Parts: sequence; structure tokens; C-alpha cells
Amino acid sequence: MTQTNPIDPVKLDRLAEVAVKVGLRLEPGQDLVLTAPMVALPLVRRIAAHAYRAGAAVVQPIFSDEEITLSRYREARSESFDAAPGWLYEGMAKAFDGNAARLAISAENPLLLAEQDPDKVSRANRATSMAYRPALERITGFDINWNIVSYPNPKWAKLVFPDLPEDEAVHQLAEAIFAASRVNVDDPIAAWAAHNARLKDRWTWLNGNNFSALHYSGPGTDLTIGLADGHRWKGGASEAKNGITCNPNIPTEEVFTTPHARRVSGHVRSTKPLSHNGTLIDNIEVVFEEGRIVSARATKGEAVLLKVLETDEGSRRLGEVALVPHSSPISSTGILFYNTLFDENAASHIALGQCYADCFVGGTSLSPDEIATRGGNKSLIHIDWMIGSDKIDIDGITATGARVPVMRKGEWA
Ligand code: ZN
Ligand code: ZN
Repeated sequence: MTQTNPIDPVKLDRLAEVAVKVGLRLEPGQDLVLTAPMVALPLVRRIAAHAYRAGAAVVQPIFSDEEITLSRYREARSESFDAAPGWLYEGMAKAFDGNAARLAISAENPLLLAEQDPDKVSRANRATSMAYRPALERITGFDINWNIVSYPNPKWAKLVFPDLPEDEAVHQLAEAIFAASRVNVDDPIAAWAAHNARLKDRWTWLNGNNFSALHYSGPGTDLTIGLADGHRWKGGASEAKNGITCNPNIPTEEVFTTPHARRVSGHVRSTKPLSHNGTLIDNIEVVFEEGRIVSARATKGEAVLLKVLETDEGSRRLGEVALVPHSSPISSTGILFYNTLFDENAASHIALGQCYADCFVGGTSLSPDEIATRGGNKSLIHIDWMIGSDKIDIDGITATGARVPVMRKGEWA
């Protein structure tokens, strides 16, 4: 057998080009803050080359490493788990204030921390969330152009394709990432323009209807999600406050908006496992009353879920509602990716925690108080989980109480 690269270098280069030209739409003179796990170095190098070719001033990679993360859990003193490098995130916030763009490569082993003490995991997550706040606010507030793309970590690939040898698993995951990211076609830039236009048709229709709530029904689910006052649906390409129209997520299939943090009621069951910071949480069932989760359980990862809900007042309330047809290309692969960037684009979903200010009419100029008054949620967390499937029907409810079919059996009605 000959040694071959399991990751097609031509498609990898196209992914880097799409990340820079479509994802970020990087402008000459912009700095780029790039975070990635060490394993994604080949993609980081291609992105840096395309970014400099596009006129980047300085491309600064910031790497994490899974072995180093594990050594913390093995060796560090207990106090370590309440600490986080706040100076780093303050520096990132400062870079964004100076109009730096942000690119993250999502390539984590979803089970990296599965064997670790849930208490340490949640303390470390909380410390990071708090320290990350200055940087995250500028991203969720859409101050600057940002983008997330993905890369096939071998450990992740083996989880997705457990029966394949590692090289073949990496190859299959790479091909799935390339297909979902629309870089396996001759002209990925044109393919993205067409895709963005289709998403725009969907959110234009939803905005025209101006529903006051959505009602979900299906197995284990009877849920009414009130939408925030003055909410606005978005999807695909979107303009940041710095005037640059970027595509934050690659891939993306969703149209999404801000639910009303105090007007969600009923019960809902997750339809795919949620991979959260190295742990899998499966078969989530929650009950909402007046927007707040009053009971929650899961067949797997329940301890982590309950810890997440304890993060702060906003962590029991919704910050995002997103619609994705069951026939989306990512869903059609039938692959469970154990990575939110992909799985959230295979199914309609909701997110606990922080809302996107940008999902309000006139959003980015609203004060935090105005956003809260309109029903926007505030939290240290933003965690998407999947509630859509081919068995879910969704109705839009208008201000006068009329019902309009939005989705039937998981497809646009
Ligand atoms: Zn989403
Ligand atoms: Zn989300």
C-alpha cells in the first residue's frame, strides 16, 4: 500500500481560500486573529497564505493543544480550574477594537474531556467563559468580520467513522467537511453566492410574516417559542458593524433569530447528541415555564448539562432559535459529526444563553437594556442543541393568533 495524504491538498487550499474570501471577506490592511488546535496547522498555513495574498497586515495564530489540555487535568492543582488567561482575551478584544478580523478553526476531539471530572470541566469552562467575555461580546455584537471553518482531527474522525482505519476515517471526514463547506465544486465562490441568495429568500419571507411565536410539535416535543419584540431573521452572509459582509459559519444552512427570553413554554426533546467541551450530552428533555427551564434531564452527560444550566440566570433561557430543513446537505449525509458547527446545520435548533444583538431590527445600535426589554437573553454561555427532525412540524403564530405552516415533517412548508 502506498502512503498518500488522506486530505486532498487542492480542496484544503480551496477551503482556506473560501474562509478568507467568503467567510471573512478580509480587507487589505486588516489584522487576523486566528485560533486553532495544533492538529489543524496545515489549514492554518494555507489560510495565512491566502490572508496575506488578500492584503492582511498581520496574521497571528493562537494554538491550543489537546495533550497540553489533558496534562492540565492530570497534573494541575485544583485552583487551576478556576483560572483562565484573561490577558489573552483582553488582547483579542483590543485587536477587534482595532478592526482585526477573527477566524476560528473548529477541529476538537469531541470526547477529549469525557473521562475528566465534570466539576473540573465545568469550573474551567466557566472561568474561560468569564475571561472570554470581552472578546465574545465583540463577536456576538458583530463588531468585526469573523468566521469559523473546520478541519479533520484524527481523533474526531475516528469517533465519526469508528469502523474505518484512521487514515480512511480522516479522508472521509475531510471529504464531508469539503462537501458541506461547498469547496468540492469548480467555483466555490459562485456556489456560496447562490447559497447565500437562497438563504436570503427564506429570511426575507420570515421577516415579512413577523411571527410573534413559533410552535413545535413532534415526538416528545410540544413547545411554543415566543420571538423577541422587533426580532429579525438572518442567515448566510451578513454585514458586520465594520461594514464588511462576511459569512460567519462555514458551513451554514440555518436561518435564525432571537427568541423572547421570557415567552417560551412547553417541553422539548433533543434529536441529536450535543457535544459540549469534550463531553457528549444525549437525549436532553427540558420543560420551559415563562422562558425558564424548570426541569432538565439527559440519558448521557446529565451532570454536565445541569452544571451548564447553573452557569448564570441566562443559562436557563433561550438566546437563539434556528430553522434548518431536514433535507439540508449536511443532514442528507446521515453523518453525526459530534460537532455543533455541522450538526446544528443538519437540524433545526435552539441555543441556551446569550442572544445575538444583531438579530434585532436596528440591533447593533441597541443598548444592552433595550435588548433585554425586547426579550433578548444575556448569559456567559451560548450552546446550540438540535430539536429538529423529519418528524417535527412548526407553525408560525401571528400577532392576531393566526397559524401559518412554516415546516412540515422537517421541510419548509
Ligand atoms: Zn444556530
Ligand atoms: Zn448558535
